[in-house]
Amino acid sequence: MRILIANDDGYLAPGLAALVAAMHGLGEIEVIAPEQNASGTSNALTLNRPLQVFEGGAAAGSPRVRFVNGTPSDCVHVALTGLLGYRPDLVLSGINQGANMGDDTLYSGTVAAAMEGYLFGVPAIAFSQVHKGWAELAAAGQVARALVQQVLDRGLGGTPFLLNVNIPNRPDALSLPSRITRLGRRHASEPVIAQTNPRGETIYWIGPAGDAREAGEGTDFHATASGCVSITPLQVDLTDHARLPDWRAHLDSRP
Ligand code: MN
Repeated sequence: MRILIANDDGYLAPGLAALVAAMHGLGEIEVIAPEQNASGTSNALTLNRPLQVFEGGAAAGSPRVRFVNGTPSDCVHVALTGLLGYRPDLVLSGINQGANMGDDTLYSGTVAAAMEGYLFGVPAIAFSQVHKGWAELAAAGQVARALVQQVLDRGLGGTPFLLNVNIPNRPDALSLPSRITRLGRRHASEPVIAQTNPRGETIYWIGPAGDAREAGEGTDFHATASGCVSITPLQVDLTDHARLPDWRAHLDSRP
């Protein structure tokens, strides 16, 4: 079993160390993560400059950590297209500092790192803690390990999958029920924050994500708010299948 681990909070993030530690003994571990915090970079690839891979060192008995001066997707892309020289059996991402639920998944570098593996046909799982601050990180690692073990026991053969996991920050996270969920929706983001910089120019900070809007039963928001671990199977197809017939009728010019 060969497992590639990445994240979006950067190679020094406590959540990455927790995920790596939690996977100890489950297989051969490779860690390739961004040099800097790359949260919110989605599936971006760096195309306007070359990338470099650096050795981040490793504590005794721990897998070595390498870092890339690029995005989460860069890390997994470079790993899978040449750096590793083999195809891992599983790609893991996280553990992210903060939830990746609903629309967050479109912006998330954590989900994107896992998705890059999935796009290359490798089963992948993204892990996030619901709240920021790294509280109860070891418990989140236990949840990640248990889930990976369950997935391995079931067998990785067949169609690759992409799972998005959100874990409540609780010391008893391992004993919480798991729920298979769909993505909820968030309200549109909070307003942009305008300030004046020291040169008298107006600058803008992107505001925080909005609150949950569609958070009904069955959603990731509902599950985590109810004290459960949320597991959402994701796919990449953005096609609006429901409206295909309508658009065909109006805009498809074939007779
Ligand atoms: Mn992040």
